[in-house]
Amino acid sequence: MCADKLAIDGGTPVFAGPLPTGPRFGEEELAELKEALDQNTLFYFYGQKVKAFASEFARMHGAPAAVATTSGTAALHVAIGSLDLTPGDEVVTSPITDFGTVIGLLYQGLIPVFADLDPSNGLMTPQTVEAVVTERTRAVLAVHLAGNPCDLTGLRALCERRGLALVEDCAQAFLARHGNSLVGTVGRFGCFSTNDYKHISTGDGGLLLVTDAADASKAAAFADKNYRRELGSAMRRIDLLAPNLRMTELQGAVGIAQLKRLPSIVERRQAFGDGLRAAVARIPGLTPMAVRQGDTCVYWFFTLTAEAGVFRGGRDALVEALKAEGLPARPGYLEEPLYNVPMLKNRTAFPGTHYPFDLAPQHEPDCPGAERYLAETIVLPVSEFYGAEILASYAQALEKVTSALRA
Ligand SMILES: *Cc1c(COP(=O)(O)O)cnc(C)c1O
Repeated sequence: MCADKLAIDGGTPVFAGPLPTGPRFGEEELAELKEALDQNTLFYFYGQKVKAFASEFARMHGAPAAVATTSGTAALHVAIGSLDLTPGDEVVTSPITDFGTVIGLLYQGLIPVFADLDPSNGLMTPQTVEAVVTERTRAVLAVHLAGNPCDLTGLRALCERRGLALVEDCAQAFLARHGNSLVGTVGRFGCFSTNDYKHISTGDGGLLLVTDAADASKAAAFADKNYRRELGSAMRRIDLLAPNLRMTELQGAVGIAQLKRLPSIVERRQAFGDGLRAAVARIPGLTPMAVRQGDTCVYWFFTLTAEAGVFRGGRDALVEALKAEGLPARPGYLEEPLYNVPMLKNRTAFPGTHYPFDLAPQHEPDCPGAERYLAETIVLPVSEFYGAEILASYAQALEKVTSALRA
């Protein structure tokens, strides 16, 4: 038997077993849940769990406050809803992100305008953002894709110069750092998701870091129908529309225990991601995702690109060959950029109208870097349960498939 014969051609796969996994929840979560139930209320305003979850998250970031929500989408909606924008205003964001990034914008009647991305890592840059800023732009919603921080220094300088609010979508980037700053603490709001796929899970849930203390009560109210519960019977003097995006004590309880696990989860993912980076960098023709000098990526997933013309069958052949070796890989993070999703392409957010898109002149998205990113990247999964064995298998499989497919 020839050890170098690709598994896709009938050779022996590099990795045969199932990928490792492990428990994400344990006694700590159970004890917190028991305490939550023993409070005899699961409502955040009367209980202690959501409050403790949010305040611990704020403390970890040195931020004045945090608001817990039903989802990451909800945290983004609360951030955007707290900016006092008018329907028809434009917000610049990324075309390669979870759809949740734009949902709150559209419910607020705002128009997402898509900035191009750096094809080496799928991140917006100050240059690509500035290229689409118009006199209608009011905010920039920066997405730290895959746990890799955007150039927040440059984005903040641009926002200050153009009078724009900066909001960070940190759903994939818990504890990532831009220089010495944790992501979520540079913009006016930092939004996180605790859905079941993210670094930590409360089933569903979200967190909003508030970096300006003056925004704290407004953001808290926007997540709770604009009720001002601290005012007692006057709480329903509502002057602006807001949804109910409140987290329950059950999620808050699990969140408290999950936050204790977060630093070690992040550390293990970083070690795995950095290991993949080194393995990929050793292979001529492959390039690992670019992380800015001085920044810390927390690898919600890992990406690499293959130089054009170097490998027979290109990117897709490498992906298929890796999968056959028993190691997951996929082509690109999304099938299409957001602007090709029918609702955005056809400008039909609401039935029977083109609102809010018809409130402003139409922008034709022009994002060649984003499209290149989707066409050229290979996505590899990262998990806190992957250790040295999986890392060595990926390194071996990458060597094997690239030498076999080298043109
Ligand atoms: C997961 C995610 C969201 C949405 O979070 P939900 O909790 O699923 O609503 C938003 N933006 C990005 C970048 C995400 O990865």
